[in-house]
Amino acid sequence: MREIYIRLAYKALKDGVEVVGPSYFSNRLGISKPTAQEALIKLAENNYGDYIPKKGFKLNREGIAKGKEITMKHRLMECLFYDIGLSSEFACREATRLEEHVSGELIARLRVLFNGRRLCPCGNRIEEELEEGT
Ligand SMILES: [Zn+2]
Repeated sequence: MREIYIRLAYKALKDGVEVVGPSYFSNRLGISKPTAQEALIKLAENNYGDYIPKKGFKLNREGIAKGKEITMKHRLMECLFYDIGLSSEFACREATRLEEHVSGELIARLRVLFNGRRLCPCGNRIEEELEEGT
């Protein structure tokens, strides 16, 4: 499972877009539309949301919770990379490359390390509220 799709769909939802089409992902990830569509259908099969033909993908409750979790992991890794001297852009890129491979154990360590820190290097909340539209 490519966690990046869930994180991007979650980001879109946070930006007020509930249903995201394959082109949203192909533009941002530099992949083809069919590849993106295939991944979105797979996410729906894994019960993270629904794939609506000709429209796109919509996260369900489970998908939203997963998106929130992946976003937190991403931002904790950004904090780590930023603290060892990477720019916030570089930190974000590396976190994107690694977020689907990182273990829960490492994330637990990072949560302890960055306990009390509220914002990632780009200025986003590390732990977001789960409520939609906030
Ligand atoms: Zn960030």
